[in-house]
Amino acid sequence: MTYDILLKNANIIDHEGKISTNINIYIKDGLITNITDDIYEEITKEVIDCSNYFVTPGLVNLHTHTPMNVFKGIAEDVNADDWFNTEIWPYESKMTEDDVYVGSLAAIKEMIDNGVTAFADHYFCADRICDAVIETGIKADIAPTVFGMSEDFNETLEKVTNMIKEKKDISSRLNVRMGPHAPYTCPNDTLKKIINRAKELNVGIHLHVSENQQQVDESLKIYGQTPFERVNDAGGFDIPCIIAHGLWITQDDRKYLNDNTYIAVCPKTYMKLSLGLGHIWDNSSELPLCTGTDSAASSNTLDPIEQARLFALIGKYTKYAPNSFILSDIWKMLMRGHEALPFNSGKIEENYAADLVIWDFKLHNTAPIYNPLASIIYSSNSSNVLYNIVDGKILKRNGVVETVSENLVNELSKVSNDILRRGKGKTNLVF
Ligand SMILES: [Zn+2]
Repeated sequence: MTYDILLKNANIIDHEGKISTNINIYIKDGLITNITDDIYEEITKEVIDCSNYFVTPGLVNLHTHTPMNVFKGIAEDVNADDWFNTEIWPYESKMTEDDVYVGSLAAIKEMIDNGVTAFADHYFCADRICDAVIETGIKADIAPTVFGMSEDFNETLEKVTNMIKEKKDISSRLNVRMGPHAPYTCPNDTLKKIINRAKELNVGIHLHVSENQQQVDESLKIYGQTPFERVNDAGGFDIPCIIAHGLWITQDDRKYLNDNTYIAVCPKTYMKLSLGLGHIWDNSSELPLCTGTDSAASSNTLDPIEQARLFALIGKYTKYAPNSFILSDIWKMLMRGHEALPFNSGKIEENYAADLVIWDFKLHNTAPIYNPLASIIYSSNSSNVLYNIVDGKILKRNGVVETVSENLVNELSKVSNDILRRGKGKTNLVF
């Protein structure tokens, strides 16, 4: 028996924020195989001395649009209507498959750097995102976007169905599900069709719901139901479901949530586009909240810690409650994303996937270390992520992301020049 990696004398922060010291973690064939006091260095291929470091489960980004890294900074200081209708969607309408691929690689590199071991994506040309996932070693749950009111709806649904069938079993690091865009872009019949197709394929769904007050008001006006009610009526909560935002969930909507529903919140985008406070800070411990980043076009960074930090700060500030939104609850919100994804990850226990981060807090931005959770949530940045390990493979080693090309920055400048040269196209979507 030979082990692949030994994390020796590690300080551990587990999924609940509990800390233990001097632990040896053995990794073999992608799994955590032993957690013990014993040291077998002679039968381990790589030994990493973690006596000065902390080891945690990896981070999850439960809602993003990775290809949109190519639009980072293109639409600033505008309101949400203009952001969607006159900037992002017109540019997107001329996007190429190569843009999608380069944007995904850039996003994945940034996420690996920030300690993300798995993410959930929602975009079109999703097969190119899958390519980037397979190449870089990260894990991902990919939902190809379907707009329910577009003229080529049936054609898109068939295309997406074929893609899901094709990608479903190609890698244990990849999961696929249906991505109806949102209730406001899917009338009842197409919303139901997409969800029924997800059921037939035995996959889940990932969709935007109740992002702002206006969406709830218009839904009530047109359908007499909230967006959550419409998703429920269409059968969306019968299957694994990732809700992006759910910011304006009503008290009554909460009854639709179940053990297979997770809500990915992205406060940086809400603040930037002034989407309002909504209701997710009210009795938030009763909601299945996880951390997402949304795209780099609205959040500019793909850093779950930054989003969790903002979630805690907004809660403390607006509720006049500095002793609420406490570190261990924020940490659990960061870790909950693992439960939403089928990757057997998120716990430092035997037989769990070796999806781990090694943190160095003995740096100027985080030292001294009285409270390691405070170091992570309030002080850390990517420089503290020393190693990022997925399925026992080291994606970031000693502070360097090893699995994505260094030339990506040049590729991104080329793509952004092309995007500006092509300009904006027509779009029949309305936010
Ligand atoms: Zn989104």
